[in-house]
Amino acid sequence: MSDVLMRFQKLVIASGNAGKVAEFRAYLADLGIELLPKPDNIDVEETGLTFIANAHLKASQVAISTQEWAIADDSGLEVMALNGAPGVLSARYADTDQARIDRVLQELSGVSDREAQFVCAIAISDPTGKIFADAIGTCKGAIAMSPRGEGGFGYDPIFFVPNLQQTFGEIEPEVKAKISHRANALNLLRSKLQNL
Ligand code: IMP
Repeated sequence: MSDVLMRFQKLVIASGNAGKVAEFRAYLADLGIELLPKPDNIDVEETGLTFIANAHLKASQVAISTQEWAIADDSGLEVMALNGAPGVLSARYADTDQARIDRVLQELSGVSDREAQFVCAIAISDPTGKIFADAIGTCKGAIAMSPRGEGGFGYDPIFFVPNLQQTFGEIEPEVKAKISHRANALNLLRSKLQNL
């Protein structure tokens, strides 16, 4: 493991999303560092216009508040026929995961172009709020005609991966951990850190 990564003895996972936190924990388990949850009383407003801007905001603000190193992601779904929506508004597209899925399916009703991608921007901040490294990962797929599978979280049941002929809701977590936008961003982040 890189010397740089070894300098974090503790890292706050700056997210309140249980699905994301579980994935981060699995991806970072081999680092052998203490992964801390984000304190409930810290809520960062996502005022950025891009995934990377929001990832920076979340990592910096949580790092400053906790005085620890922090890792944050900002992620979402981009649907090409919807001009990239819901995009950075993915979490705010409707009130619940189910309502967000319903809205995307309804907006694509009668649309044959189902091309979509998940995007994940990740940033690590030092305890002063300075961004130490960042990376963006994507995962290409298509929007299914209806939800399939009980696994994952968020938009997973409608995100279809053509190579696997399954949605993210149907695949095993171990498979998602190899091919997802979050995995791709983390792999890139790790190689950037190793080259610092
Ligand atoms: P954020 O917390 O602002 O980054 O919101 C991300 C939004 O995109 C939430 O609605 C998530 O459910 C959704 N999202 C992000 N990553 C994934 C994923 O891996 N699977 C399904 N939905 C995701």
